[in-house]
Amino acid sequence: MEKVYEFFGTNVFNDSVMKERLPADTYEILKSSIKEGKGLDSGIADTVASAMKDWAIEKGATHFTHWFQPLTGITAEKHDGFISPTEDGHIIMEFSGKELIKGEPDASSFPSGGLRATFEARGYTAWDPSSYAFIKDETLCIPTAFCSYSGEALDQKTPLLRSMEAVNKQALRIVKALGFDDVKRTTTTVGPEQEYFLVDKTLYDKRPDLIYCGRTLIGSMPPKGQEMDDHYFGVLKPRVAAFMRELDKELWRLGVLAKTEHNEAAPSQHELAPIFTTTNIAADHNQLTMEFMKKTALRHGLVCLLHEKPYDRVNGSGKHNNWSISTDTGVNFLKAGKNPADNKLFILTMAAVIEAVDKHQDLLRIAVATAGNDHRLGGHEAPPAIISIFLGEELTDLLNSVANGNHHDNAKRVKMKIAAEIIPEFKKDNADRNRTSPFAFTGNKFEFRMLGSASSISDTNVMINTMVADVFQHYADRLEKAEDISAEINLIVKEVMENHKRIIFNGDGYSAEWEAEAEKRGLLNLRSTVDALPLLKTEENIALFERHGVLNRAEINSRVDIILENYTKVIHIEALTLLDMINRGVIPAITRYSNILCETINNKNSIRVDSSVESELLSRLTAANKELFSLSSALKMAVASSEREKDILKKATEYHDTILKLMADIRKYSDSAESVVPESDWPYPSYGDLLFKI
Ligand code: ADP
Ligand code: MG
Repeated sequence: MEKVYEFFGTNVFNDSVMKERLPADTYEILKSSIKEGKGLDSGIADTVASAMKDWAIEKGATHFTHWFQPLTGITAEKHDGFISPTEDGHIIMEFSGKELIKGEPDASSFPSGGLRATFEARGYTAWDPSSYAFIKDETLCIPTAFCSYSGEALDQKTPLLRSMEAVNKQALRIVKALGFDDVKRTTTTVGPEQEYFLVDKTLYDKRPDLIYCGRTLIGSMPPKGQEMDDHYFGVLKPRVAAFMRELDKELWRLGVLAKTEHNEAAPSQHELAPIFTTTNIAADHNQLTMEFMKKTALRHGLVCLLHEKPYDRVNGSGKHNNWSISTDTGVNFLKAGKNPADNKLFILTMAAVIEAVDKHQDLLRIAVATAGNDHRLGGHEAPPAIISIFLGEELTDLLNSVANGNHHDNAKRVKMKIAAEIIPEFKKDNADRNRTSPFAFTGNKFEFRMLGSASSISDTNVMINTMVADVFQHYADRLEKAEDISAEINLIVKEVMENHKRIIFNGDGYSAEWEAEAEKRGLLNLRSTVDALPLLKTEENIALFERHGVLNRAEINSRVDIILENYTKVIHIEALTLLDMINRGVIPAITRYSNILCETINNKNSIRVDSSVESELLSRLTAANKELFSLSSALKMAVASSEREKDILKKATEYHDTILKLMADIRKYSDSAESVVPESDWPYPSYGDLLFKI
């Protein structure tokens, strides 16, 4: 049997391959530009390209592609063969430095929110040397950023890289002010935990809603859901276990550090968690993980559902973004250490995150705003749409005592020492409450839990990096001027604990009381994408992103349009799918069964047997069918009217206020009919089948 350490990363042009295959000087130049995040010397591109090509061809690759992440939310690739004709009618395999560094896909069909129209029609892909090239499907994939001719970001990666730079710049000032003289670079790290559902492929194929929308639009609940909690961490079914083993192996070959696989709360729901890595690599790896989940599932007769809410009334799927920042000398800013009260970097970073999250609640909510995720946030399974931070009692105490200036108090010190020892434990102690917090301190990192399972993690990390960079900038300005650094830090913590304490909430984030309490505290509660997105365009936010060189005004405006447009398209497809299922599946099924009931009633009446049950059923089904018929006409008209709306925000609002509501009404009647029509007469596999027959 193949040993994991033998095949791990075999499809990656990683550091050891570079070292082995590149001339020493080229290797050194490439390595230092990766390490320091500097632009690459184009003089070495030909050498690198040629080594990459030889390596890829040895591994069976015939094509190469610039692999990028346009604003559609998924990855894009256009494959080019390595072949190049020779004069004598043969071919040679070629790949130049120019082809490595820059690509020019025909990008006119990718969403640009008007950016390309304003600036230049073409889009370019540019090599990101900090994320290793890899081979999949016999193709050498080169991770790239995608931008317009004049450099406007048309993708998810460009702003992510810029935001990592922004936070690095300010974080370096902080560590310098605190006396870490040997630090040259800081990097944000992320470990994204990924939830998903599996469903049997033959059942999936009978559900147009799953095929077109990735989620069920109708379906009545089976007698059993997730109430027994018997699935969470349960024993894996053999077919699922086989899928997971193969998925791990696929990912390991690509150097993805897939680590933990387990069952989740809902039936047929699972999770994969990788070991954390540098943020842009984590983002690339998460995209690959989602892609390979889908591909691998098919080989096991399964379909992987990445939608945030494939089923009503059981938990949806999210992604947990574990975030931290470390120096190149190995210091994690968020690691408390043995004596957190004396750990200035830790305390200051804690304060910065608290301030950043409170000031920029809107940005975190915006980062996770999609049509799919809206179904999940605020349900009783996922954090509400309200942002708050969980610190735990010990840490809250610690920061309060720093703020109150009694951290030298002996009694307190003892307590803080205890607190320090407790910190690694406290996650366990408070696990119940902690799980309900959208932004929780979980040891040596913050875990943001509102991300949707289908989205890229890029947007979220763009936001976190930029807002932390901004707060760090203010702190650095102060520390660089301060005469007494310790006193200044204490003052900062004091101000943060006074001015931003409303964002700290250690209680149950799912409770109704919290929603009321949060409102009293003045926290934002942006329930839907339509509520959240316009806030990205406020002058304050534009200034923030421009100040740190992460996004400019035009890029922000285009992003808002693209996200809203995507929102309306998703719901548009859902509405059409639902209409199709109701008109060609559900209404005819109810009619057929009604007909059987009519015959039974007639037969029974002719021999004078009581037919009151059948009559009652018949009248209920007739009423349901009538509602379904008139509601679907109303839905059809509402969709047509929304499609005529030119203003994108108004259009999205109509989809949210009118279309989604009509769809929910239709579902209610369809589901109640499904619960009385015999299974053999219902046109679609039931929830029971989808959730339990794996
Ligand atoms: P959980 O109980 O949430 O599963 P884990 O300890 O397993 O907690 O960690 C969850 C994720 O957090 C993993 O992907 C892990 O690699 C990641 N993680 C741990 N430390 C860091 C860090 N310093 N920066 C970013 N992510 C981290
Ligand atoms: Mg977690």
